[in-house]
Amino acid sequence: MNISENLLKIQSTIPANVKLVAVSKTKPNEYVEEIYNAGQRVFGENRPKELKQKHEDLPKDIEWHFIGHPQSKQVKYFAEFVQLIHGVENIKLLQVINKEGVKHNRVINVLLQFYIAQEETKFGLDLIEANALLHSDEFKEINNVKVVGVMGMATYTDDIEQIRSEFKNLNQIFTELKQGFFAGDESFKEISMGMSGDYEIAIEEGSTMVRVGSSIFGVRNYL
Ligand SMILES: *Cc1c(COP(=O)(O)O)cnc(C)c1O
Repeated sequence: MNISENLLKIQSTIPANVKLVAVSKTKPNEYVEEIYNAGQRVFGENRPKELKQKHEDLPKDIEWHFIGHPQSKQVKYFAEFVQLIHGVENIKLLQVINKEGVKHNRVINVLLQFYIAQEETKFGLDLIEANALLHSDEFKEINNVKVVGVMGMATYTDDIEQIRSEFKNLNQIFTELKQGFFAGDESFKEISMGMSGDYEIAIEEGSTMVRVGSSIFGVRNYL
């Protein structure tokens, strides 16, 4: 398997306005370096300590994204350098991230995660919950976190039309939030959807950011 070739193949299917997040979780530094040398600069991880270690070991111009659900006490491992946290879904975590943002004197970008799949194992808000969160007094106190868009994961299925309708749903949620809450806020612009198996459908449905792991780096032995 040639990782750089995989990367080039995928890049050729992604329009310039869509950001490719190379999901390197569980993969060794050499794999990251290989496609870093081929020009890739944006990487995603979902384990806080692994992310911290890779940030320490690898070139400093890498843009690191956290793509999972950190426990509150783990946010400290990446708060100082993370460029985007995909997948925040409650006020408690926003408050923890905010506190870390204050500590490091920076504003940390996050995406709200929405539940669009038909799988109970997946996480996320619905539109009503999101509106309640955004209009809460607690949210008004948060100044060192910026919500820059939405994120979601489609059902793991071969049914392309189902996947498509779930991505359409996320796009619709984005549009409603944009009009209802973030009107005039230019930084609210990201729709993070699409993984190895479904990123092309996601792009057709308006994704601005795809998170691709196994199609670049090969299958993972563990999650
Ligand atoms: C692991 C992971 C990915 C990448 O999955 P692949 O199917 O390997 O492309 C994308 N998004 C999230 C949230 C993940 O946890």
